[in-house]
Amino acid sequence: MKYYSLTSPSHKVSFQQAVLQGLTPDGGLYMPEFIPELSTDFIRQLPSLSKTDIGFTVARSFVDERIPNETLREIVDETIAFDFPLVTLEENVFVLELFHGPTLAFKDVGARFLARILQHIAQTTHQEITVLVATSGDTGSAVAHGFYNVEGIRVVILYPAGMVSALQEKQFATLGRNIQAIKVAGTFDDCQRLVKQAFQDEELRNKIFLTSANSINIARLIPQSFYYFFALSQLHTLKHVVFSVPSGNFGNLTAGALAKKMGLPIDAFVAATNANDVVPEYLHTNVFTPRASTQTISNAMDVGNPSNFPRLLALYDNDWDYITKEIYGYAFTDTETRKAIADVFTKRNYTLDPHGAVSYLGLKKYLANNPKAKGIFLETAHPSKFPDVVEFAIQQSITLHPALAELAHKQIQSVLCTSDFSDFKKLLMEY
Ligand SMILES: *Cc1c(COP(=O)(O)O)cnc(C)c1O
Repeated sequence: MKYYSLTSPSHKVSFQQAVLQGLTPDGGLYMPEFIPELSTDFIRQLPSLSKTDIGFTVARSFVDERIPNETLREIVDETIAFDFPLVTLEENVFVLELFHGPTLAFKDVGARFLARILQHIAQTTHQEITVLVATSGDTGSAVAHGFYNVEGIRVVILYPAGMVSALQEKQFATLGRNIQAIKVAGTFDDCQRLVKQAFQDEELRNKIFLTSANSINIARLIPQSFYYFFALSQLHTLKHVVFSVPSGNFGNLTAGALAKKMGLPIDAFVAATNANDVVPEYLHTNVFTPRASTQTISNAMDVGNPSNFPRLLALYDNDWDYITKEIYGYAFTDTETRKAIADVFTKRNYTLDPHGAVSYLGLKKYLANNPKAKGIFLETAHPSKFPDVVEFAIQQSITLHPALAELAHKQIQSVLCTSDFSDFKKLLMEY
């Protein structure tokens, strides 16, 4: 399997090159050359297969033989070493819980897979790899935990001083070992600029093998397809299945569309968003207008120009008639989201987080017109990651998940740095 550039389709690279580069040389996205189809036998046997068997089969079709079967199986096994339960909420409404990983959010899976692929590359090339990431909050913790204690990899996380919530900072800046947090006296844009400058610095690159853990890395996208297979392996039927996906950069939904193209029987998807509704708008009007993002209570989806959207369009041949047959877009306000959290809590005794609440609303809207469908909505984060929003919605306090409660006792271990590139470079070289 080769990967081609969406912006210059004749540019093709191997899986490992696509992973190391992250973006194409002209800043575009890598896409698999074709979508492998899995056998109908495999699909039928899903309920009797282990998660590792399923994940391995899916990953194997995208990853070339330079990563041998045994290694890939181990990588998959370690990536998904927690549960992905499908819980019945109402008749024909199921919730796929994607928050049982170390940072209690679904981004753990992509980060853990990428970390272990890079570890394999570090081992086979006998080189230590340094991963540079700039974060304004959420990405940092998934990447830090995904790479924590992974041999041969050093992670450097840059974040803007005073602009990351205390809880988020504790999630990525208290680990130590191979995870180095750098607190930059500047803005998030400064952090991104420093990362960019590092990649352009020849002296630095001759000394250190640099890569990024960007959210558009193909190795973060592919393992997200597993979710959809895991869900159907737990459902009693393969008929009339629809998934509702709470979307921001559209990585998760793109991975779902990949799973469908691989042969997983999915009738339709709901692209559920908050006020950042450029994709639902496109699906309704055939006009795509990226714009600045708006702040909402489901803030991991506050994206005005979704980075994975070109990939999703490519899977549908950039054809509006085609994509609108399979993907339905609905957007919801914060008021509607809070009301959904309250309603589900009262009626079902189940606590949604604000992102899951948006996907729940999207599913309900779809089911209103398609009552026969079996609906699965993705719950992408644990509710106690957003205590203020959830407690305000349900008018009750909630218990913090133990993994978050533990953080209170941990010490921040970050190093301060100015926003001046020479200071940052010195830190990188000294380490
Ligand atoms: C990142 C994130 C999303 C959005 O996922 P995309 O793949 O960017 O569409 C939804 N919910 C949570 C909790 C997230 O962290």
